[in-house]
Amino acid sequence: MSLRRPMLSTSALCYLALMLHSPLLTRAQTSILGFTPPAATHEAEIENKFKAIPSPDEERKQHHIFTAEPHVAGSSRNNELARYIADEWRNEGLEDVIIRRYDVYGSNPKSTFLEMVAPVHYRAGLRELPVPGDPDMKNKSISSAWSGMSASGEVTAPLVYAHSGNPEDYELLRKQGIDVKGKVVLVRYSNPYSYRGFKALTAEREGAAAILIYSDPAEDGYKKGLVVPKGPWGPEYHIQRGAITYDFMVPGDPLTPGWASVPGAKRIPVEQAASIPKIMALPLSWHDAKPLLAHMDGPVAPDDWQGGLPIKYHLGGERVRVHVKIEMDNSTQPYYVVEGRIRGAQLPDEWIVLGNHRDAWVFGGVDPSSGTASMMELTRALGKLAKAGTRPRRTLVFCSWDGEEVGLTGSTEWGEQFADELRKKAVAYINVDSSTSGPNFHGQAVASLAPMLVETSRTLRDPSGKTLYEAWKASSTRERSEAKQSGAVTDLNVTDSNLADTRIGSGSDHTVFLNFVGMPVLGLQFDGPYGVYHSAYDDFFWMNHFGDPGYRYHTLMSQLWGVLALRLANADLLPFDFASYASNIRQFVNELTKGMGTRNDTSQLDLKPVLDAIDAFEAAGKRLDESANRALASGAIDPKLADTINHGAMQVERNWLNPDGIPGRPWFKHILYGARFTYAHLELPGLTEAVEKQDWATAKQQAEILRQALINNTKLVNELNSALNNGTTEAGK
Ligand SMILES: [Zn+2]
Repeated sequence: MSLRRPMLSTSALCYLALMLHSPLLTRAQTSILGFTPPAATHEAEIENKFKAIPSPDEERKQHHIFTAEPHVAGSSRNNELARYIADEWRNEGLEDVIIRRYDVYGSNPKSTFLEMVAPVHYRAGLRELPVPGDPDMKNKSISSAWSGMSASGEVTAPLVYAHSGNPEDYELLRKQGIDVKGKVVLVRYSNPYSYRGFKALTAEREGAAAILIYSDPAEDGYKKGLVVPKGPWGPEYHIQRGAITYDFMVPGDPLTPGWASVPGAKRIPVEQAASIPKIMALPLSWHDAKPLLAHMDGPVAPDDWQGGLPIKYHLGGERVRVHVKIEMDNSTQPYYVVEGRIRGAQLPDEWIVLGNHRDAWVFGGVDPSSGTASMMELTRALGKLAKAGTRPRRTLVFCSWDGEEVGLTGSTEWGEQFADELRKKAVAYINVDSSTSGPNFHGQAVASLAPMLVETSRTLRDPSGKTLYEAWKASSTRERSEAKQSGAVTDLNVTDSNLADTRIGSGSDHTVFLNFVGMPVLGLQFDGPYGVYHSAYDDFFWMNHFGDPGYRYHTLMSQLWGVLALRLANADLLPFDFASYASNIRQFVNELTKGMGTRNDTSQLDLKPVLDAIDAFEAAGKRLDESANRALASGAIDPKLADTINHGAMQVERNWLNPDGIPGRPWFKHILYGARFTYAHLELPGLTEAVEKQDWATAKQQAEILRQALINNTKLVNELNSALNNGTTEAGK
C-alpha cells in the first residue's frame, strides 16, 4: 500500500513517543465538570483504561467489512450488516440487543435514462468508471445515477442552466427572459452549497419538469486539487447521489409524519405527504454534464455562474433538448434499526444515547462507514470494560440507524416511537455520521454541553502529538481565517467559549432528538479535502490513501465518543452549563436584532423583554454553577439530592419545545434550533422566519413563546439552586 500522505518524520515520531510518556497523560485528572474530586480521580482511571482499548488495526478491519459491498437503505446487504452488528454487540457483551423494523415508503430506482436529442445526440452513461488501483470500483453492484425520492415520469424538453438552483438564480433567468416552465433545469451542487432537496423544491415551484444536478469540477473536482486515484478530489465520472426528500418539512417516513411506522400504524395517502417531491431528479457527473453545457445557446451566463469546465457556460433554453425517463419503485420496504445497551449499574433509567447511520449510497467509505467503524470499536471497548466489571453508572444506548440518507428515516421513526420514554430518561444524544475524512476536528453541541465537550478535548491526544483541544483550536483558527477571506466570518478570535459549534441545523440523525424529542445533542466529525461524497469512489481505497490511511483519527473518534459518553454516564451532577446556554441565546437574539436594525424594523418588534428574560436565566445559571461547584468540592453529594438536580436539569432542554412547533412546520418543536430548507442552521427558527417575512404579529407571538420558555427555565434552575443549597429534594417535581 502506498501512502500518499507525508509520513511522520523521525523527529516527529520521537516527539510523539515523548509525549506519550509525558506526565500529562498519566497524571490522574482531579477536576472534571460534574464530578466530585474523588469521583473525578476514579473517572480518569476508567477513561485511561477505556482509551487504551481502541486500535487502528481493529478500526481498519471493521471499516473493511462495512465498505466491502454497496449497502444502500433497504438492500439485502444493508440488512445483513444489521444482523452482523447485532451479533457483534451480543458477543461484545452489550445487553438487550434488538433489531427494530419500520415499514416505510420506499424509493429505489427501477431505471434512469438521459439523452440529449438536439442539436446532437448524446446518451449519458450515468456510470462511474473504474480507476487503476481500486478493485472495488469494478464491483458489478455499483448503482447507476439516481436521486432518492425522485418522481417517476418521462419528458423531452429544452434544457436551461440554472446555476445553483436557488430562488435568486431563477430571478436572474426571468430577467433574461428565460422561463423554465415545462423545461428541464441543469444545476450545480454547491455554489454556494444548498441541500439538493431545496434545489428540487425550488425547481418544482418554478414549474420545471425535471432537475439534473451535476458536480462541477470547480466545487469538488480538479479545480480543487488532484483527483482520484491521485488525490482526494472527485474524478471526471464521480456522481453525487443523494435524496431530494423534503425532510426540512418533516423527516422520517413520509407516510407517518410525527408517529412511528410500526406494524398497524396509520398511514396518510401519498398525495398528502409533504416530504415527497413531485419533480423528477437525476444527479450527473461532469463527464455527462459537459456535452449538454457545451451545446447550449442563449445568453452567456454571468461570471459567477461560470464553472470549472473549459467552456463558456450559456443559459440555454432552446437549442439543447433532452429526454429524461425515470422509473422508481415506491413499494413499502422494511428499514432496520439495531439497538443495544450497556445497562447502568446505579441509574439504569437514565440514558445516554449514541448513534450512527449504517446505510450508504454506495460503499460509504467516509459516509457513514468511517463512523460505523468508530462505533464498533467504541462498543467493543466499552463492552470489554463492562465484562471486566466496570459499568457506567447510567445506561448507554447504542443505535445503528437505517435510511438516514433517504430522509433521516430510521432515527426519526425510532425517536418518534420512544419519544415519551426518551423525554423521561434521556440525558443526551451523541451523533457520529461520518467520523473521518481528514484531520480537522469539528465538534457541535447545544450550548449547555459545549463546555464539557471543550474540556473533554483537552484529555485526548491527537495523532499530531498535540492535545485534541490544541489541534481543534489550530484548525478552527485556520478555517476562520480562510472564511474571513471570503467574508463569511468576521470574528477570528477562537476562544474556549466559541470553539464548539453551537449552531445546529439538520442533515443527520440528531434531528429527531433535538427538534422533536427535546434532547441535548452533540455531533462529532473529523474532516478534510473530500471530493467523492455520495459517489462510488468514497470507499476503502479512498480512506486508505487519503482520508485516514493509518486509521488514527477513526481511533481517536472512538476514544472521544466514549469519553464523552462515560462523563455523561458517570457524572455526579450532569455537566450542563445553563449560563453558557443563556449567553448563546443572547448572541442569537443580538444577531437577529442587528439584521432588523439594518432594515429599520426595530420599531416593529421590541425584543427587550426577551433580553431581560435571558439575563435572568443567565443569572440563575451562574448561581446554579456556583452551588454545584461548591457541592461537588465538598467531596460527596447525597444521591437523592443529586437525583433531584439531575432530573430537573434534564427537563431544561424539554422546556425549549413548543408543542405546536414552528409556524408551518409543526414537527420541528425546538424554539432555539431549527434548519432552513437548505439544511443550514437557523437559530430561533419561528421568530427569525417571522422577522424575515416581516410578519410582525407572528414575530410577537414567537418572541413571547421564547420569553415564557426562558421564564420557565429560570424558575426551574432557581428551584434546583435552592434545593442544592438547602439539601431538599423537592425541586423540579
Ligand atoms: Zn451520512
